[in-house]
Parts: sequence; C-alpha cells; structure tokens
Amino acid sequence: MNNIKNNINVLKEKIQHLLKNKTELKKVKIVAASKNQSVEKIQIALLSGIYNFGENYVQEGIDKIKKLKKNNQIIWHFIGKIQSRKTKLVAQNFDWCQTIDREKIAILLNKYRTSKKPPINVLIQVNISEEPNKNGVSIKNYQQLAIIVSKMTNLKFRGIMALPKQTQGKIQYRDYQDVKNIFNVLKNQYESVDTLSLGTSFDIKTAITYNSNMIRIGKSIFHN
Ligand SMILES: *Cc1c(COP(=O)(O)O)cnc(C)c1O
Repeated sequence: MNNIKNNINVLKEKIQHLLKNKTELKKVKIVAASKNQSVEKIQIALLSGIYNFGENYVQEGIDKIKKLKKNNQIIWHFIGKIQSRKTKLVAQNFDWCQTIDREKIAILLNKYRTSKKPPINVLIQVNISEEPNKNGVSIKNYQQLAIIVSKMTNLKFRGIMALPKQTQGKIQYRDYQDVKNIFNVLKNQYESVDTLSLGTSFDIKTAITYNSNMIRIGKSIFHN
C-alpha cells in the first residue's frame, strides 16, 4: 500500500507545478474518490495528508464513515447520483453533497439535515456537456436551482460540480470554459460560493487551467 502514499506525493507535486503559472488560483483541494476502496486504503491516504473523501454509493459510504468515526478530521463528500429516497441518509451522514441536480433533492436534504449539525455543504451538479440521461441540471436551469438552494437554511451553497464528457478520449475545451463562466457568474451572485469541483484523474491539468479548486481523484491515488 506504499503506492498510495507515493501516488499522493506525485499528485501534490503535479498540482503545485500547475499552480505555478496561475495568478488567480492559489489552492486546489483534493477529494479522494474512494468508491470500492477499503477502509485500510482510506487510512493510508489519510496518513498521507488527504482529508476529503468522496463516495458514490450511500450505503458503502455510511459503512466507511462509521468505521472511521474516530478519525474526525475526515470530511465526507457524497459524489454519486442522488436518489430522493436516499437523501435522508446523505443529509444525516455526509459533510458535503456535490450532486444536487433538482429542486426535490434540495428540499429533502434541507428537511433531513438536523439543525444540530452545521449546514451541509452543497454543490449543484451541472450537466455541462448537455448529455441526455446524464446527471446534473441543464445549463438552462442552473440559475433557478441556485435560487432555491441558496435560500435553504440547512444547506450551504458552495458552488458547482461538473463532469465534462470526453469524446474518444479528447477533451472538449468549450465545456470547461462554460463551467468556468457559470462558476464566475455564481460567485458574483452568492457570497457563499467558493468551490468549483471539476477534474478527475484524466483531466487534472485542464481542470486547473480553467480554475477548478476541487478535484476528485480516484485512479491516480489508488492505482498500484
Ligand atoms: C470515480 C469518480 C471520480 C474519480 O475518477 P478517477 O478517474 O478514478 O480519478 C470523480 N468524480 C466522480 C463523480 C466519480 O464517480
């Protein structure tokens, strides 16, 4: 499992290198996408200085959250497709939900987040490549959803998440520019907005070029 520590060091160096040429971006948060990864591997990543973990499946995520309860410095993100019947569990167990894509989800998350906990941090997922049957709110409707999300007292509206499509492995730069523009618009509209969650193992460089400040990394952290 030494590879995880090494992978993380390589990743951090890569990010530092990419940030050297940027003036408007100073930090990029790494969220380890830990779906299908064991608790032991998560602990190694934690010891290597990763504190944010993203889970795609509610029950798998909650099992890990329970097992790692003692590590209270971990910040848990839900990054999977969210079903309305699972929103209660997400609201009760996670620190972030990155995949709000419709009003109903926002209402239920707000309803089930206990006021004993701080508001859950939320991102609106935008279907940036306008792919049919893909997760995320359409570009036409993100403003409407932002109004609703920003009004909910148990939600803290932090920004947007996107997963641009790659066509035959090729990066579609237009989509990244669109994400960047939407983020800037929202940042100017809402004081709480500070997070652009964009970039996975294959497009780290492009994401940071377009001002992503939160990348969700699975393969590049956990590969052998
Ligand atoms: C799995 C996953 C990632 C990480 O992708 P890698 O290619 O493994 O880095 C990022 N975001 C979401 C939503 C994911 O499901």
